[in-house]
Amino acid sequence: MSVKELLQNGICAHAAHLQSGDYSSADLTRACLEQMDARENDVGAFLTVDAEGALTAARESDARRARGECRGILDGIPFALKDNICARGLRLTCASRILENYIAPYDATVTARLKDAGAVLVGKTNMDEFAMGSTTGYSALGQTSNPWNPDCVPGGSSGGSAAAVGAREVPFALGSDTGGSVRQPAAFCGVYGLKPTYGAISRYGLASMASSLDCIGILAHSARDTAAVFSAIAGKDGYDATALDAPRIDLDKLLKPLRVGVVADFTKDRVSADVWEAMQRAIALLSDRGAVLEEVHLPMPEEALAAYSVISCAELSSNLSRYDGVHFGRRAAGATDLRTLYAASRGEGFGAEVKRRVLFGMDMLRAENRERYYVRAQRVRELILHKMTALSERYDLLLSPTAPTVAFEKGKTPPPASLYYADLCTVYASLAGFPALSIPFGFDGNGLPLAVQLTARPCAEELLLRTASVFEEGVR
Ligand code: GLN
Repeated sequence: MSVKELLQNGICAHAAHLQSGDYSSADLTRACLEQMDARENDVGAFLTVDAEGALTAARESDARRARGECRGILDGIPFALKDNICARGLRLTCASRILENYIAPYDATVTARLKDAGAVLVGKTNMDEFAMGSTTGYSALGQTSNPWNPDCVPGGSSGGSAAAVGAREVPFALGSDTGGSVRQPAAFCGVYGLKPTYGAISRYGLASMASSLDCIGILAHSARDTAAVFSAIAGKDGYDATALDAPRIDLDKLLKPLRVGVVADFTKDRVSADVWEAMQRAIALLSDRGAVLEEVHLPMPEEALAAYSVISCAELSSNLSRYDGVHFGRRAAGATDLRTLYAASRGEGFGAEVKRRVLFGMDMLRAENRERYYVRAQRVRELILHKMTALSERYDLLLSPTAPTVAFEKGKTPPPASLYYADLCTVYASLAGFPALSIPFGFDGNGLPLAVQLTARPCAEELLLRTASVFEEGVR
């Protein structure tokens, strides 16, 4: 098998080949590193590569397997982590100057669980600074491009993780999703992107953005691969009080006839023609497979975006107060007292988008603005949760686009008008805490990936992933 053929495999296929001895984890890891040599100049997915650590872990995996002590499907499988997830001894930058030289002192729960399962960490991926953005263009430390077209953005903020999987540099990666940051780059890069139920995956060791919305999510090449990773990392954790019991995943159960609500609010004027057309194909495919589809409405798309913006910025302005040049992060030179030290360190350490959001969030929380903006945004969130809960009683799944457009060109803001609009279709599941999956669904006329999004009721990841296989067959 050539390296090229080998890298076409996903996790499940690799696991079978490792088991039958067609190649070793060391071979596979070397192949990934070679692919990185070949693609990183164009793609730029990684901020840190730990080739030595990866090869050591791979050899250990091979030795375990030789002793008959294989730890399961992920043993020996290479992966990457978004650079806001801690891996002990490696840099954790959040793609910010303020953390440029920070070394993580411990493993995040997800990192520890993947290492325990035998998976092989090859490196840390680029992102928008502190996960604020939709293009990875707000990274202070590197440029990432779409693996399908280097002139286009990979999406964001987990653009490095999505691009690394899309470019076949690793079979899977983890990212974080606060308002769409796993699903939207997954859609742009042609891979699966799961944002789990809020709390299904421990956030311990994830640098917080907006704590009531943050989820660690999975980027991979198939529903089955995603399920394998989910099963390894989900579940209760003594270090994260919001972590839930892991829902069980069995993808071989029979699919009962599904009731699907087709979200009718992302109308032709809100999404591009290609995305619209992909939705029509998805509707036809699901109804062809016996699903019952009906149009449904989500409340107030523009207001949902505004509520997301107010709530996430209020929370992140508080979460980012820890980067002050004293507790964590870069310390400005020459300051003579504490206030100037804070101001100078934060002033030179944070990029413009982060500053914009911190200032906006603080302003939202000022006594005179609280009622007007923050409390109102919470009411919109409550309303969305209420409506989505009601819908989830009538429908098994909601079908919608993942993003209003396919990957757009770097430096060009997609219509209509604002980058924040890229989150239009993803913020609902974030605000409600529901699980949602972006599923690759073919390509547009320019060879850029198309995708659709399914959203399910809390803890119904299994249903999401099982239904995704219908799309896998539909695209073939
Ligand atoms: N694009 C969104 C934002 O910029 C989502 C961020 C995220 O999910 N981390 O806020």
